[in-house]
Amino acid sequence: MSLLVFGSTALDSISTPKKKNPRLLGGSGSHAAVAASFFIAPRLIGVVGTDFPKKYISLFKKHKVNIKGLKVRDGKTFHWAGEYEVNMNNRRTLSTELGVVDGYSPVLPAAHRKLKYVLLANNPPGAQEAIIDQLDKPKFIVADTMDLWMNVAMNDLRSLLKRVDMLVLNDSEARQLTGDDNVVSSLSKLHKYGPKYVIVKKGEHGAILSSKKGLFVAPAFPLAKVEDPTGAGDSFVGALVGYLAKNAGSIDANIRKAVLYGSVVASFCCEGFGLNRTTKTTRAEINKRLRELEKMTSA
Ligand code: AMP
Repeated sequence: MSLLVFGSTALDSISTPKKKNPRLLGGSGSHAAVAASFFIAPRLIGVVGTDFPKKYISLFKKHKVNIKGLKVRDGKTFHWAGEYEVNMNNRRTLSTELGVVDGYSPVLPAAHRKLKYVLLANNPPGAQEAIIDQLDKPKFIVADTMDLWMNVAMNDLRSLLKRVDMLVLNDSEARQLTGDDNVVSSLSKLHKYGPKYVIVKKGEHGAILSSKKGLFVAPAFPLAKVEDPTGAGDSFVGALVGYLAKNAGSIDANIRKAVLYGSVVASFCCEGFGLNRTTKTTRAEINKRLRELEKMTSA
């Protein structure tokens, strides 16, 4: 089975207390597609400007990310700048320049419409729903989102949630979306909005999966040093859906392992700026870290 990934393809300028790194490859779609590529060759949908460096196109190709659906438009690539505080958990958005994303409506190439597994990585919920409108009998649709869309596009987000199988969001977003301070009790509200599967990410404290089979509590892989957590959430969901798409069959049979793979690939993302570490990772390293994580969490 193949996987469709729709998300932002960006240039990110990231500052941490130790380093500043301008215009690195970033974006929810880029992180998610590269993470998924350790399991399956994903097809990325998005838009970049004429300033998008060729070396990043080569990087996608090297990782077997199919970019037939990556449109090049006249203008500048989406640019996001963010800054981390000393604890590396709190992040501030310094600027968001839409560039060629402004006025872009995603159109799926004919061959992409029949894909069964679909990841709608963080993007405006209206654009995410426009992708669903073009799909022909999808099997499993996963959506990621962020607080911004709850502030500026809540109606679109609620409309999207009725049409997705899984929602992935972080704990503060779960609280904001439901108005419930307790993440565990927010889960039943999130299911009522539509998705049968909900994952709440809690950064370095792992993630909770909720489904009709109950809860699954997954740890994050413990890291002694975090260089840049940008894209960790996208890497988590990219690896998770990549694993599910590769091991097609019952979602319930595969989902727990998929979540653990998500934690592991996200941990590699945190060890370098942008995609620097993830793109140097191998499947063997990922499998080794998965075994370590399983060992650390079994009684
Ligand atoms: P994460 O650290 O997982 O929350 O993802 C950070 C990535 O999201 C960065 O690579 C950004 O380029 C991308 N991003 C930031 N703001 C937006 C936005 N408004 N829409 C889509 N992608 C965004």
